[in-house]
Amino acid sequence: MYQVIVKNSTYNYDELKTNIYDMLTAIEAASSTKISAGKRVLIKPNILTAAHPDKAITTHPMIIKAVVEFVLDKGAHPQVSDSPAPLTKFSKIVEDCGIAGALKGLPVDIKEFTVSKKVLTTRDGSAFTPDLSYNTLELAEDALNADIIINLPKLKTHSQMGLTLAVKNLFGCVVGARKPQWHFKLGENKELFAGLLLTIHNTLRPEINILDGILSMEGNGPGSSGLPRPLGLLMGSANAVAIDMAVCQMLGGHSLLTNKAAEAMGDSCGFTISGEMNKVENFKFPTPMTLLFGLPFAKTLFRNNLTSRPKNIEGACKLCNECVKICPAQAIENDTKRLYFDYDKCIRCYCCLEVCPHQAIEVYQPMAVKAIKKFAKVFSSK
Ligand code: SF4
Ligand code: SF4
Repeated sequence: MYQVIVKNSTYNYDELKTNIYDMLTAIEAASSTKISAGKRVLIKPNILTAAHPDKAITTHPMIIKAVVEFVLDKGAHPQVSDSPAPLTKFSKIVEDCGIAGALKGLPVDIKEFTVSKKVLTTRDGSAFTPDLSYNTLELAEDALNADIIINLPKLKTHSQMGLTLAVKNLFGCVVGARKPQWHFKLGENKELFAGLLLTIHNTLRPEINILDGILSMEGNGPGSSGLPRPLGLLMGSANAVAIDMAVCQMLGGHSLLTNKAAEAMGDSCGFTISGEMNKVENFKFPTPMTLLFGLPFAKTLFRNNLTSRPKNIEGACKLCNECVKICPAQAIENDTKRLYFDYDKCIRCYCCLEVCPHQAIEVYQPMAVKAIKKFAKVFSSK
């Protein structure tokens, strides 16, 4: 049974620093984790893309700063790293996210993950015994070699997986282009993808997890199409799955595939709440990606009429090509006048929506999906 500490907070630095220090001290006290002199502490925020903190796309820089200062106070060596979309320079991303400014003058390494290492054992030295689908997993060497990992996810929606929380944040430890390759390999199978995320989590098992839900994101996240939603809370735990389960409970009992994967892998954990966690009303989840996911006929004859899909918003698109370059299925073409999506190739991973800097991609629901949903709503209300 893991404890999930919930604190109400703002980004006011004095208040935030007190809350973060209290949380880190409590997590250390309740576990065998001790941040001490000489230890290499990897801090893994969500640094998806170059975006101002007000957009709620990335972990807030003041949270990262407070964690870095705590680690430095203990005499340990902090490193802040992630592997964002590989199209913008890491230095520009950390500048635009406010991280470079917040950490200026502090002795901390801020570096992009660039070197991968094949996983042979998990971080705690156990044998790596994954499902066959994931048997060639490679992760960032800096993450695998860290003495302690502090995971700093953002509370956000995700058009493919519903939410991106503490477990999903570790997907950023897959280096560069290997991320879209995984999407392509696993295709539209969200259960398999959830299994991959759990496998990454079980390999790395961050000792400390602090979720930034002070300004969360709802709607069609995780990129610039999502909508900032102030919730004013921080959640901390020694276990990432416990945080994800607590968030789902807080949002009204949302079902998350990574939580189901944890149960299936015998890694589900109970949790207790320390602090006040109120239910969040009317949280907007992303448009369902596919209504009839899993039915074979939907994947062939009716696939494009019965599944949601990415769509270009004409007029908003600047033809910058970011989505074309990231698409793992090579399903987007830019003829210099407009974009074309090949929906037979598209695997609905929404990497394009994630990286578009101009909010020019939306999740489109075909009329048939809207009609069936309406019918299902009427039917279920009877
Ligand atoms: S949809 Fe977005 S990312 Fe793609 S070309 Fe247009 S502006 Fe760029
Ligand atoms: S078009 Fe977008 S959603 Fe479809 S495969 Fe490419 S990146 Fe993924």
